[in-house]
Amino acid sequence: MKIHKIIILGSGPAGCTAAIYAARAELFPLVIEGMQPGGQLTITTEIENYPGYTDGIMGPQLMQIMKEQAERFGTEFIFGEVSEVDLSKKPFTIKTENDETFQAHTLIIATGARARLLNIEAEKKLMGYGVSACATCDGFFFKEKEICIVGGGDTAMEEASFLTRFASRVTVIHRRDELRASKIMQERAQANPKISFEWNSVIEDIEGSPETGVQAAILKDTKTGETRRFPTQGIFIAIGHTPNTAVFKGKLDMDDQGYIRTRGTSTYTSVDGVFAAGDVADHVYRQAITAAGMGCKAAIDAERWLAEHQIA
Ligand code: FAD
Ligand code: NAP
Repeated sequence: MKIHKIIILGSGPAGCTAAIYAARAELFPLVIEGMQPGGQLTITTEIENYPGYTDGIMGPQLMQIMKEQAERFGTEFIFGEVSEVDLSKKPFTIKTENDETFQAHTLIIATGARARLLNIEAEKKLMGYGVSACATCDGFFFKEKEICIVGGGDTAMEEASFLTRFASRVTVIHRRDELRASKIMQERAQANPKISFEWNSVIEDIEGSPETGVQAAILKDTKTGETRRFPTQGIFIAIGHTPNTAVFKGKLDMDDQGYIRTRGTSTYTSVDGVFAAGDVADHVYRQAITAAGMGCKAAIDAERWLAEHQIA
């Protein structure tokens, strides 16, 4: 079986950037794309904070460009989801759900993370049209608007405070009457005059369309079961993220939330020759540009590792 110098798992900004760098170093990378070719940006609309695009760019288009740039230098992309890895011996072995097996001297894991969502139909229809899972990315679109944020953790409190820079009012919708967030984050949000709270409430449905944007949330009281219409122009979901690391469990060092741990400022993981980049190893920044930056670092780390081990 052919032994690849480098296999990259995931085709989001981290995986594609790693591929561009590895391909330009003539390592002929293979990218296994996963079930979401292009990654999280393919489920959003306008990206205004990725450098190089003065007027912004649509998420799917940005990812298509990154893929073409990687292909231009000799990257091979294949569709497939990794279902099993053997990191206990070199070369590493990777199996996909369609029963293909690959071997590689180095691996870059760039399988990303997914925002936990409410799992209601309207949320899918309105994602990018008034519903968002990223305040840093989309807050700017809600200047002087009245919006909601769902969740009671540190992320929801932090993002609620951040969103008050743009929105005229931010309502936190939380399913209990007590926040999960740390004391200091709770106090900061509660002291902000632009933030209010709807307790014991969950969103059952969202009114609106891609043409009109969001118009109202239908809230259900978790204690009484009663529903009510709550007019709002935007809904941010901040109920946590899940890293896509199930297949690496027990094989790589991870934190208690399942994010892969990297060493210092490098992309080295606990297994020599395996590198990690992007949201899969970063629960703090979670941006396309930071994921791309880590992808670049991972390719450089892998290239140097191959050189040190004299794998030409
Ligand atoms: P991802 O983009 O998550 O890509 C992960 C890749 O791994 C995918 O290709 C997936 O198919 C693959 N994969 C997963 N599991 C496997 C497996 N088992 N085998 C093989 N492949 C696998 N950031 C910004 O900077 N600006 C924005 O405006 C912005 N807007 C956003 C809007 C939305 C709705 C969302 C959800 C996120 C947004 N973000 C934005 C955040 C940004 O999308 C992420 O930070 C970025 O995509 C992370 O890149 P990544 O390459 O680490 O992972
Ligand atoms: P989190 O702590 O898991 O909180 C998730 C919140 O969403 C909880 O309040 C939870 O409600 C709610 N929730 C979960 N599923 C829901 C659903 N289906 N419908 C409605 N609500 C739902 O996640 P997080 O806030 O993203 O934080 C993750 C980690 O990062 C934490 O360890 C946090 O401390 C850390 N963090 C730290 C900072 C900081 O210190 N500056 C900032 C951000 C994040 P319940 O409370 O009822 O379970």
